[in-house]
Amino acid sequence: MIDLEVPKKFRPLVSQARGMAEEVFRPVSRKYDRAEHEYPAELDLVSAVIDGMADGGAGQGAGASSSTRSKDDGAEEGDVAAVGSGRTAKGEKGTRNGSNLSSVLSILETCRGDVGLTLSIPRQGLGNAAIAAVASDEQKERYAGKWAAMAITEPDTGSDSGAIRTTAVKDGDEYVLNGEKIFVTSGERAELVVVWATLDRSLGKQAIKSFVVRRDNPGLKLVRLEHKLGIRASDTAAFILDDCRVPAEDLLGDPEIKTEGGFGGAMQTFDNTRPLVASMALGLTRASLDRTTELLAESGIEVDWDRPANVQSAAAARLIEMEADYQSAYLLTLRAAWMADNGKPNSMEASMAKAKAGRTCVNVSLACVELAGATGYAETELLEKWARDSKILDIFEGTQQIQLLVVARRTLGFSSKELK
Ligand SMILES: Cc1cc2nc3c(=O)[nH]c(=O)nc-3n(C[C@H](O)[C@H](O)[C@H](O)COP(=O)(O)OP(=O)(O)OC[C@H]3O[C@@H](n4cnc5c(N)ncnc54)[C@H](O)[C@@H]3O)c2cc1C
Repeated sequence: MIDLEVPKKFRPLVSQARGMAEEVFRPVSRKYDRAEHEYPAELDLVSAVIDGMADGGAGQGAGASSSTRSKDDGAEEGDVAAVGSGRTAKGEKGTRNGSNLSSVLSILETCRGDVGLTLSIPRQGLGNAAIAAVASDEQKERYAGKWAAMAITEPDTGSDSGAIRTTAVKDGDEYVLNGEKIFVTSGERAELVVVWATLDRSLGKQAIKSFVVRRDNPGLKLVRLEHKLGIRASDTAAFILDDCRVPAEDLLGDPEIKTEGGFGGAMQTFDNTRPLVASMALGLTRASLDRTTELLAESGIEVDWDRPANVQSAAAARLIEMEADYQSAYLLTLRAAWMADNGKPNSMEASMAKAKAGRTCVNVSLACVELAGATGYAETELLEKWARDSKILDIFEGTQQIQLLVVARRTLGFSSKELK
């Protein structure tokens, strides 16, 4: 039976994340929206608390770095999911609530405070989730405690990540990387960048590997930082890789190109990171709904949850509808994370969660601006900022359209070649 309560062991983590959102993030949210590219110094304090929580075993980390893959299920954009074994990471029978679930629960809370600041928490980058998803145990140990960004997107390739052009050529004990990467979240501030590159373009997606590149590698050149519509507290960098030499041991996972079977490796990252991004969208949705409910209450409009929507005011009915969307996105996200914790192939569920949460977040945040009228549009409230912040959550880690494509392929049993 599914128990929808937050597991007892995660409650301290969730409440600590909520405290951070309210006491640290919310008060400086507007400041760093205005001061784009300025490092939010308050985050150093937050990351020390998160590191302390993880070290003390109070939770399993409060951010992306803690999400791990329970079992290699050979995930691919477009492969039909195999039936899960139902076994846990350690091989024992039964189910577990692990680091994927704790990460989505805590990220949801910190994103109620601020999405851009959550993305900027040191050592909790999307690259950390990539390392957790693909790296060997020895590599995980080597990169432990480091902050990692993730660089997939290129000027000519976004959604079709299998078509990347950055190359990696083996030269003795090193790989030499050449190419261009754009829109790298935390690219300036992180210590490591997980770079996707192909060992052989003629072999297609199977030849794509991820490489851990140190930020101070002279071959990794920062070109610019982007100015953005939203999440301005988060830095977004563009890089050129110019004969960038990386030790062979920094190729994540298996260096062999497997031309047969499922496309594991780098793509597994998405099965872990999409539920995390879905939880960011949930946090922003929750914040928008809660603040709008307060503002409407101040004008005398309150929702009666015991009565049907059609006998209430239009604004109340709208809140009820949006709450239902939030709840369905929430449950889809918990399911996707729980499946990852339990070694079940979750590519379709991760995409479902991201599609639903991303769309809900965009729709709800804009509707909240509308419901609050001029107040919603003014800088005196954070509603206008949340409406700007929301759109990225329906874009990165795969757009709305790409998530729906993945779901369609898996539902219909088509490969990525058969349904584009
Ligand atoms: C603020 C920000 C932060 C980011 N952070 C990162 C990061 O840390 N690392 C990283 O690697 N990337 C990052 N990205 C890049 C992001 O992942 C890409 O923008 C995204 O994958 C879409 O790629 P694209 O922009 O090239 O759009 P395109 O792929 O060119 O798509 C354009 C439009 O066409 C649609 N489309 C494309 N293909 C199909 C299809 N087959 N069927 C239907 N519709 C389709 C898309 O949904 C979209 O609406 C970031 C982007 C932004 C804006």
